[in-house]
Amino acid sequence: MQGLTHIAVVEDDPAISRMMRQCLGEHGFVASAASTGNELDTLLAGERIDLVVLDLGLPGEDGLSICRRIRVQSGVPIIMVTALDGETDRIVGLEMGADDYLPKPFNPRELVARIRAVLRRSHHGTLVPAQHPSVLCFDGWRLDLARRDLFDPSGVPRPLSSGEFNILAAFCQNPRTVLARDFLLGLVHARMAAVFDRSIDVQISRLRRKIEPHAGQPTLIKTVRNGGYVFTPLVTALDA
Ligand code: CA
Repeated sequence: MQGLTHIAVVEDDPAISRMMRQCLGEHGFVASAASTGNELDTLLAGERIDLVVLDLGLPGEDGLSICRRIRVQSGVPIIMVTALDGETDRIVGLEMGADDYLPKPFNPRELVARIRAVLRRSHHGTLVPAQHPSVLCFDGWRLDLARRDLFDPSGVPRPLSSGEFNILAAFCQNPRTVLARDFLLGLVHARMAAVFDRSIDVQISRLRRKIEPHAGQPTLIKTVRNGGYVFTPLVTALDA
Protein backbone atom coordinates (compact mmCIF):
# COMPACT_ATOMS: atom_id res chain seq x y z
CA MET A 1 0.00 0.00 0.00
CA GLN A 2 2.98 2.31 0.38
CA GLY A 3 2.87 5.10 -2.16
CA LEU A 4 -0.83 4.59 -2.83
CA THR A 5 -3.18 7.26 -1.61
CA HIS A 6 -5.85 5.85 0.69
CA ILE A 7 -9.23 7.61 0.64
CA ALA A 8 -12.03 6.94 3.14
CA VAL A 9 -15.43 7.34 1.47
CA VAL A 10 -18.12 8.06 4.07
CA GLU A 11 -21.49 7.67 2.35
CA ASP A 12 -24.64 5.85 3.48
CA ASP A 13 -26.05 5.35 -0.03
CA PRO A 14 -24.45 2.06 -1.19
CA ALA A 15 -24.83 2.85 -4.90
CA ILE A 16 -23.17 6.27 -4.63
CA SER A 17 -20.46 4.85 -2.37
CA ARG A 18 -19.71 2.07 -4.86
CA MET A 19 -19.68 4.54 -7.78
CA MET A 20 -17.22 6.83 -5.98
CA ARG A 21 -14.93 3.99 -4.89
CA GLN A 22 -14.93 2.49 -8.37
CA CYS A 23 -13.99 5.83 -9.91
CA LEU A 24 -11.25 6.40 -7.31
CA GLY A 25 -9.89 2.90 -7.99
CA GLU A 26 -9.78 3.64 -11.72
CA HIS A 27 -7.72 6.75 -10.97
CA GLY A 28 -5.15 4.89 -8.90
CA PHE A 29 -6.47 5.53 -5.39
CA VAL A 30 -7.23 2.94 -2.73
CA ALA A 31 -10.72 3.57 -1.37
CA SER A 32 -12.34 2.22 1.78
CA ALA A 33 -16.03 2.55 2.58
CA ALA A 34 -17.68 3.73 5.78
CA SER A 35 -21.40 4.47 6.09
CA THR A 36 -21.41 6.10 9.55
CA GLY A 37 -19.17 8.20 11.78
CA ASN A 38 -18.42 5.13 13.90
CA GLU A 39 -17.25 3.17 10.88
CA LEU A 40 -15.04 6.09 9.89
CA ASP A 41 -13.55 6.16 13.42
CA THR A 42 -12.69 2.47 13.05
CA LEU A 43 -11.02 3.12 9.70
CA LEU A 44 -9.03 6.10 11.00
CA ALA A 45 -7.92 4.15 14.07
CA GLY A 46 -6.76 1.14 12.08
CA GLU A 47 -5.24 2.49 8.88
CA ARG A 48 -3.35 5.36 7.36
CA ILE A 49 -6.01 7.49 5.67
CA ASP A 50 -4.77 10.28 3.39
CA LEU A 51 -8.10 11.99 2.79
CA VAL A 52 -11.74 11.66 3.85
CA VAL A 53 -14.67 12.20 1.47
CA LEU A 54 -17.52 12.91 3.86
CA ASP A 55 -21.24 12.94 3.01
CA LEU A 56 -23.16 15.60 4.93
CA GLY A 57 -26.42 13.63 5.26
CA LEU A 58 -25.77 10.44 7.24
CA PRO A 59 -27.97 8.44 9.60
CA GLY A 60 -27.07 9.25 13.20
CA GLU A 61 -24.18 11.69 13.52
CA ASP A 62 -24.19 14.01 10.50
CA GLY A 63 -21.22 14.98 8.37
CA LEU A 64 -20.71 18.41 9.94
CA SER A 65 -20.49 16.95 13.42
CA ILE A 66 -18.11 14.23 12.24
CA CYS A 67 -15.99 16.83 10.45
CA ARG A 68 -15.71 19.03 13.52
CA ARG A 69 -14.92 16.06 15.75
CA ILE A 70 -12.20 14.68 13.45
CA ARG A 71 -10.66 18.12 13.00
CA VAL A 72 -10.04 18.41 16.73
CA GLN A 73 -7.88 15.28 16.63
CA SER A 74 -6.36 15.24 13.17
CA GLY A 75 -5.32 17.32 10.19
CA VAL A 76 -6.44 14.68 7.65
CA PRO A 77 -7.84 16.51 4.60
CA ILE A 78 -11.65 16.37 4.36
CA ILE A 79 -13.88 16.99 1.35
CA MET A 80 -17.54 17.43 2.29
CA VAL A 81 -20.18 16.14 -0.12
CA THR A 82 -23.77 17.25 0.17
CA ALA A 83 -27.11 17.25 -1.60
CA LEU A 84 -27.81 20.72 -0.22
CA ASP A 85 -26.28 23.24 -2.55
CA GLY A 86 -26.51 26.22 -0.23
CA GLU A 87 -23.80 28.80 0.29
CA THR A 88 -24.48 28.62 4.03
CA ASP A 89 -23.77 24.90 4.13
CA ARG A 90 -20.61 25.42 2.19
CA ILE A 91 -19.40 28.06 4.59
CA VAL A 92 -20.40 26.04 7.64
CA GLY A 93 -18.60 22.99 6.20
CA LEU A 94 -15.42 24.97 5.64
CA GLU A 95 -15.63 26.52 9.10
CA MET A 96 -15.94 23.06 10.61
CA GLY A 97 -12.55 22.39 9.07
CA ALA A 98 -13.40 20.80 5.72
CA ASP A 99 -10.79 21.51 3.04
CA ASP A 100 -13.23 21.58 0.15
CA TYR A 101 -16.87 21.09 -0.64
CA LEU A 102 -18.65 19.29 -3.47
CA PRO A 103 -22.40 19.56 -4.08
CA LYS A 104 -24.37 16.52 -5.31
CA PRO A 105 -24.90 15.49 -8.00
CA PHE A 106 -21.30 15.64 -9.19
CA ASN A 107 -19.28 14.07 -11.94
CA PRO A 108 -16.92 11.50 -10.35
CA ARG A 109 -14.07 13.04 -12.32
CA GLU A 110 -14.80 16.32 -10.55
CA LEU A 111 -14.36 14.49 -7.24
CA VAL A 112 -11.00 13.11 -8.42
CA ALA A 113 -9.89 16.61 -9.47
CA ARG A 114 -10.91 18.06 -6.08
CA ILE A 115 -9.10 15.26 -4.23
CA ARG A 116 -5.90 15.88 -6.19
CA ALA A 117 -6.10 19.63 -5.56
CA VAL A 118 -6.65 19.18 -1.82
CA LEU A 119 -3.83 16.65 -1.55
CA ARG A 120 -1.46 18.99 -3.41
CA ARG A 121 -2.31 21.76 -0.96
CA SER A 122 -2.14 19.54 2.11
CA HIS A 123 1.25 18.13 1.16
CA HIS A 124 2.58 21.61 1.81
CA GLY A 125 1.38 20.97 5.33
CA THR A 126 3.32 17.77 5.87
CA LEU A 127 6.75 18.99 4.91
CA VAL A 128 8.34 17.98 8.17
CA PRO A 129 9.17 14.33 8.60
CA ALA A 130 9.25 13.57 12.33
CA GLN A 131 12.80 12.15 12.25
CA HIS A 132 14.29 15.19 10.53
CA PRO A 133 13.83 18.31 12.61
CA SER A 134 14.10 21.19 10.24
CA VAL A 135 13.65 24.87 9.87
CA LEU A 136 10.39 26.17 8.44
CA CYS A 137 10.15 29.50 6.65
CA PHE A 138 7.15 31.75 6.13
CA ASP A 139 7.02 35.33 4.93
CA GLY A 140 10.75 35.79 5.59
CA TRP A 141 10.52 34.34 9.12
CA ARG A 142 12.37 31.18 10.18
CA LEU A 143 11.10 28.76 12.81
CA ASP A 144 13.70 26.26 14.05
CA LEU A 145 11.68 23.28 15.27
CA ALA A 146 14.63 21.50 16.90
CA ARG A 147 15.94 24.49 18.84
CA ARG A 148 12.51 26.03 19.32
CA ASP A 149 13.78 29.39 18.04
CA LEU A 150 12.02 31.98 15.93
CA PHE A 151 13.94 34.49 13.77
CA ASP A 152 12.33 37.50 12.15
CA PRO A 153 13.01 38.49 8.51
CA SER A 154 16.13 40.43 9.58
CA GLY A 155 17.49 37.34 11.36
CA VAL A 156 16.83 38.69 14.86
CA PRO A 157 15.74 36.03 17.38
CA ARG A 158 12.24 36.61 18.76
CA PRO A 159 11.55 34.80 22.01
CA LEU A 160 8.33 32.82 22.27
CA SER A 161 6.62 31.26 25.26
CA SER A 162 6.32 27.51 25.09
CA GLY A 163 2.59 27.79 24.33
CA GLU A 164 3.23 30.35 21.57
CA PHE A 165 5.93 28.16 20.06
CA ASN A 166 3.68 25.08 20.06
CA ILE A 167 0.90 26.99 18.35
CA LEU A 168 3.19 28.54 15.74
CA ALA A 169 4.79 25.14 15.04
CA ALA A 170 1.33 23.61 14.55
CA PHE A 171 0.42 26.47 12.18
CA CYS A 172 3.63 26.04 10.19
CA GLN A 173 3.09 22.29 9.92
CA ASN A 174 -0.54 22.76 8.87
CA PRO A 175 -0.62 25.94 6.81
CA ARG A 176 -3.85 26.93 5.08
CA THR A 177 -5.78 24.45 7.20
CA VAL A 178 -8.34 25.45 9.80
CA LEU A 179 -7.03 24.42 13.22
CA ALA A 180 -9.81 24.14 15.78
CA ARG A 181 -9.49 26.09 19.01
CA ASP A 182 -9.74 22.83 20.98
CA PHE A 183 -6.88 21.36 19.01
CA LEU A 184 -4.71 24.44 19.62
CA LEU A 185 -5.75 24.50 23.26
CA GLY A 186 -4.27 21.03 23.67
CA LEU A 187 -0.89 22.44 22.57
CA VAL A 188 -0.88 25.17 25.19
CA HIS A 189 0.10 24.47 28.77
CA ALA A 190 -2.57 21.99 29.92
CA ARG A 191 -3.05 23.48 33.40
CA MET A 192 -3.49 26.95 32.03
CA ALA A 193 -5.91 25.70 29.38
CA ALA A 194 -8.09 23.99 31.96
CA VAL A 195 -8.25 27.08 34.15
CA PHE A 196 -8.82 29.58 31.41
CA ASP A 197 -10.58 28.48 28.24
CA ARG A 198 -9.96 31.78 26.46
CA SER A 199 -6.22 31.26 26.90
CA ILE A 200 -5.93 30.15 23.30
CA ASP A 201 -7.18 33.54 22.11
CA VAL A 202 -4.74 35.24 24.46
CA GLN A 203 -1.83 33.18 23.09
CA ILE A 204 -2.92 33.92 19.53
CA SER A 205 -3.07 37.66 20.13
CA ARG A 206 0.40 37.58 21.71
CA LEU A 207 1.69 35.63 18.74
CA ARG A 208 0.05 38.10 16.37
CA ARG A 209 1.75 41.02 18.13
CA LYS A 210 5.06 39.25 17.55
CA ILE A 211 4.75 38.21 13.91
CA GLU A 212 1.97 40.20 12.23
CA PRO A 213 2.92 43.41 10.38
CA HIS A 214 -0.31 44.95 11.79
CA ALA A 215 -1.60 42.94 14.75
CA GLY A 216 -4.95 44.76 14.61
CA GLN A 217 -5.53 43.55 11.05
CA PRO A 218 -3.95 40.11 11.02
CA THR A 219 -3.04 38.61 7.66
CA LEU A 220 -0.88 35.67 8.76
CA ILE A 221 -3.15 34.14 11.41
CA LYS A 222 -6.79 34.50 10.39
CA THR A 223 -9.73 33.83 12.68
CA VAL A 224 -12.37 31.42 11.35
CA ARG A 225 -15.73 32.07 12.99
CA ASN A 226 -16.72 29.19 15.31
CA GLY A 227 -13.96 27.09 13.80
CA GLY A 228 -10.57 28.22 14.98
CA TYR A 229 -7.64 29.76 13.18
CA VAL A 230 -5.90 29.35 9.87
CA PHE A 231 -2.25 30.17 9.07
CA THR A 232 -2.25 31.75 5.59
CA PRO A 233 1.37 32.07 4.35
CA LEU A 234 3.21 29.59 2.19
CA VAL A 235 5.49 27.55 4.44
CA THR A 236 8.65 25.99 3.07
CA ALA A 237 11.17 23.68 4.70
CA LEU A 238 14.86 24.43 4.99
CA ASP A 239 17.09 21.49 5.91
CA ALA A 240 18.65 22.24 9.27
CA1 CA B 1 -26.38 10.52 2.49
